[in-house]
Amino acid sequence: MTENLEQCTVIGDEDDPLVSRIYPAPEHPGRNAFQRDRERIVQSRAFRRLAGKTQVFTSRSSDHFRSRLTHTIEVAEIARAAAAQLGLNEDLAETLALAHDIGHAPFGHAGERALDRCLRRHGLSFDHNLHALRIVEHFEQRYAAHRGLNLTLGVREGIIKHSRDYKAEAHPALAEYLLDERPPLEAQLIDLADEIAYLTADLDDGVESGLLEIGHIRENITIVKRCYRSVQEKHSGVEEKYLFHEALQLMQNVLTDDLIATTRANARAMGAGSLEEIRRHPERLAVFSPQAESERLEEKRYLFDTLYTCDSLEKEHDKAEEVVTALFDFWIGDPEELPAGYFEEIEDEGLPRVVADYIAGMTDSFILELYAQVKRAIRR
Ligand code: MG
Repeated sequence: MTENLEQCTVIGDEDDPLVSRIYPAPEHPGRNAFQRDRERIVQSRAFRRLAGKTQVFTSRSSDHFRSRLTHTIEVAEIARAAAAQLGLNEDLAETLALAHDIGHAPFGHAGERALDRCLRRHGLSFDHNLHALRIVEHFEQRYAAHRGLNLTLGVREGIIKHSRDYKAEAHPALAEYLLDERPPLEAQLIDLADEIAYLTADLDDGVESGLLEIGHIRENITIVKRCYRSVQEKHSGVEEKYLFHEALQLMQNVLTDDLIATTRANARAMGAGSLEEIRRHPERLAVFSPQAESERLEEKRYLFDTLYTCDSLEKEHDKAEEVVTALFDFWIGDPEELPAGYFEEIEDEGLPRVVADYIAGMTDSFILELYAQVKRAIRR
């Protein structure tokens, strides 16, 4: 099975509707439309702020933990490599990977949950994919003629749909993104590339933090046990930590190869001959094999039980909840304290959404600084 999926790729030439932009822009002689979008994303302020946002561990505890930015770069490498091996559009896959987390709030998932809880009191909700679209369409202001980054339709569609499907009835404003159809394979790959990246990195960072122990990981996660045994056979007498790193690299390759092979086999099984057929298919084709999927779930459960919900991280989650909720309530009660640019948006967007937009964009250190200032102001 070496044939690729060229017939199903996003072509991305000038006749492709997926390269259309909200504000017409002339072609560039040296770079294709998705390469230009990649630059627009990498040069955005939201992308740079990923360096200051928690992935799992805050940067306050070690310089070596992944931030959302380094995680994003790891996802982009995996996505680009998988797209290349499948004969898909590498530029689109890489661009979507670089954008996949720009809608994340500070403090990782704890921050997102807290923000969502605050908004639900006002009949709204927070979703990082939909927020990412607001960032690229609205908040990034770098051009004289328009707001937003003016990205191609293909990239905007992928930003919304890479990780899950949204019901068309629930989101009439997003009709242009064909919510009833699956996204192209380039976008489908992103969610799995994300899984591969964090399944590998969180074990690595977990051991670095001292919260996880290599022997315990090997005993409890089947795929790590198998990879560890395989590298052990090749390198005798090597220290455990080096074998563990070799095993993690092998695991990343095994999962990536599985994703590529399974996606190719699924496309072949349905006889996929075009992007349209990929879109109309009721399920996503980019998935893991049943074995890799069950091993992925086993590892995810392990990470959840031993790492994500361990006492020291739960303490950070509680702090995140406290900070986000206190600031949200502060600006709801006193909107004039918002920066002028946000205050002006209240009429169009409503106060709760504007406050959430402001908080969601913050880095961990910025929100902690504001929290300290607000606490001092309240005490006075
Ligand atoms: Mg991610």
